[in-house]
Amino acid sequence: NVPESRIDYVYKVVVIGDSAVGKTQILSRFTKNEFYFDSKSTIGVEFQTRTVTIKGKVIKAQIWDTAGQERGALGAMLVYDITKRQSFDHVARWVEELRAHADNSIVIILIGNKADLVDLRAVSTEDAVEFAEDQGLFFSETSALNGDNVDSAFFRLLEQIYSVV
Ligand code: GDP
Ligand code: MG
Repeated sequence: NVPESRIDYVYKVVVIGDSAVGKTQILSRFTKNEFYFDSKSTIGVEFQTRTVTIKGKVIKAQIWDTAGQERGALGAMLVYDITKRQSFDHVARWVEELRAHADNSIVIILIGNKADLVDLRAVSTEDAVEFAEDQGLFFSETSALNGDNVDSAFFRLLEQIYSVV
C-alpha cells in the first residue's frame, strides 16, 4: 500500500462493454490478481484501485466497473468477448457512448477478452485490429481467466494517459 502523500496522480478509468464480456473479472485480475469463479462477490463495489509507477511517477488508477461513470474519465477499456460476435458488433455503439459522455481526449483501448477460449472464437484478431485502427483505438486481446495481457493492457492505457495529460 502506497501512502496518499506519495501519489502523484489519480487517473479515473472506466471499463465498459456488453454484459458478461468479463469486465468485472478483468478489473479484479488487474487490481487483486484474482479471478472469481463465483463472480457475485463484487456486487456493490463501485470502483477498484491499483497504484502503479509509470516513468517514475506514482499513479493511482481508480477504475470504475459501471456504465454512466464516463464523466471525468481519462481512459476507457472497451471490452468485448471474442466468443460472442454480438458483443463486438456493439463496440461501435459503446464508442459513440464514450464520445458523447466522456471528454474528447479520453484514451480508449479496445479489449477482446476470453482469449483463452480459442476453440470458441467468433471474432478474428484481424477484424478487431482493423476496427481499432479505423477508430483510433489501442487494441489488445486478454484473458482474465489466465491473466494474459491484462496488466500490459492497463499499462498501455495508463502510459498513454500519462503522455497526453
Ligand atoms: P461482466 O458482466 O462484463 O462484468 O462479466 P463478468 O466479469 O461477470 O464475467 C462474465 C462471465 O464470463 C463469468 O462467468 C466469468 O467467469 C467469465 N469470464 C470472464 N472473463 C473470462 C475469461 O477471460 N475467460 C473465460 N473463459 N471466462 C471469463
Ligand atoms: Mg460485471
